[in-house]
Amino acid sequence: MSEKIYDAIVVGSGPAGAAVALQLSKAKKKVCILERGPRVKNPGTVMGMLGAVDLMGMMPGLISPMIVRGIALGGSTLLYCGTAAYPPKWLKEKYKIGLEEYADDTIEELDLKPLPDHMLGESGRLIMKSANDLGYQWEPFRKFFRPERAKGNCTGGSCMMGCSCGMKWTAAEYVDQAVTLGAELHLKAKVDRVLRDNGSCIGVVAKTAEGEKQFKAKITIISAGGVGTPGVLLRSGLEEAGKKFFTDPVVMVYGIAKGDIKGTRHDPPMSVGSLAHYDERIVFANLADPWLMLPAMMALGRPTRFWQAFQLGRALGIMVKVGDEMNGEIFKSERFHKPMRKTELDRLKKGSEISVKILTKAGADPNSIAITPIRLTHPGGTARIGEVVNDNLETGVKNLFCCDASVIPETLDLPVVLSVISLGKRLADYLVKNNRV
Ligand SMILES: Cc1cc2nc3c(=O)[nH]c(=O)nc-3n(C[C@H](O)[C@H](O)[C@H](O)COP(=O)(O)OP(=O)(O)OC[C@H]3O[C@@H](n4cnc5c(N)ncnc54)[C@H](O)[C@@H]3O)c2cc1C
Repeated sequence: MSEKIYDAIVVGSGPAGAAVALQLSKAKKKVCILERGPRVKNPGTVMGMLGAVDLMGMMPGLISPMIVRGIALGGSTLLYCGTAAYPPKWLKEKYKIGLEEYADDTIEELDLKPLPDHMLGESGRLIMKSANDLGYQWEPFRKFFRPERAKGNCTGGSCMMGCSCGMKWTAAEYVDQAVTLGAELHLKAKVDRVLRDNGSCIGVVAKTAEGEKQFKAKITIISAGGVGTPGVLLRSGLEEAGKKFFTDPVVMVYGIAKGDIKGTRHDPPMSVGSLAHYDERIVFANLADPWLMLPAMMALGRPTRFWQAFQLGRALGIMVKVGDEMNGEIFKSERFHKPMRKTELDRLKKGSEISVKILTKAGADPNSIAITPIRLTHPGGTARIGEVVNDNLETGVKNLFCCDASVIPETLDLPVVLSVISLGKRLADYLVKNNRV
């Protein structure tokens, strides 16, 4: 039997991999998608989520905060808040990576827009009003949500545990569309390294339930995310990957409302917020940790008032996300080292101070303020454009491409998904137009 050679192998089914796989399938190319994780059968439940989260990343060393990432069909979009941010201007101005036409196409295709006013959440509306009364320019954010799909009493408040009703778009939908068009999907297939012949990439070796298997293709696209992609590259001998990366560190600032109000955990996450401080690399949004983590995070944030963890229903929350310095390292094993620097600690401090003012204005008890430990939710920049890949996202190894948050050359400090979907569409366009597949 002759060996099967695909037009393209896509490693990873997060938003970038899913977008490139779907576009190539639409162009009638033979695509094979290799995804390390499973399909989550019961999204929205604790068991469903435990099977989809990188638990090793949640247990970092002493000097690095935890990195949160999804290991499942759809990648981190299973856990994300569903906020869509337009790709930053500097990608085009400084790196000539024009994503506008692809971002506009995606906004139209998925009908991305802010939620209607009644779905922003009671505390979301209150926090936004309080922020605006103080002059902080908050507004509803554009969402990857389809309110018409919400079932029963769903407010979107638990969608970071996976969305059980389908209101939140995830990258699994693109993958399913690609499969309908003929793409092959292999779940629980962890790519270990790439295969080379005469200096060119000819496929990958993956660990599957049946043991190690080779998959071969004309081109290979690594879309394993900001942590997974450098892992594959390093195990394949591309030593330049994984050196220095960004993570957009986040803290949550909580305060317990004095009055009777439905707290932030009932709101769709990040339904409102502000990019007005983007030049200072600080972004704000309403957000509460998923219910499983919320009591622990509130208690860790204010150990001397640990009992507040039992007042979750009235907790108002603001997420402060900041741009960090490119530093740290990701290793072959995908363990990492990311010490926080003064720059990002100062930004987190400034953002937290502003959040305390907003929460207090919104009626939170000033004595109840709790600021959580730092978490890292957007790892990227580990296979940077201009250093590890060129403008067309090809590495120094012919026919080996990377396409995901790892190629973003600088700290983004913005929700990533719309930018990486756009990168995936742009790459598919390049490959088809230039007869590379
Ligand atoms: C809690 C949380 C909230 C967030 N909220 C938002 C938000 O509101 N808006 C937004 O834009 N962004 C948000 N993000 C960030 C966003 O989800 C990620 O930045 C984005 O999903 C990155 O896309 P990606 O394609 O680069 O990688 P990923 O989504 O990480 O996908 C990579 C995929 O590759 C697979 N993989 C890894 N290694 C291998 C391997 N060796 N072999 C095969 N498969 C492999 C993984 O299992 C995964 O499915 C959030 C993230 C988190 C954690």
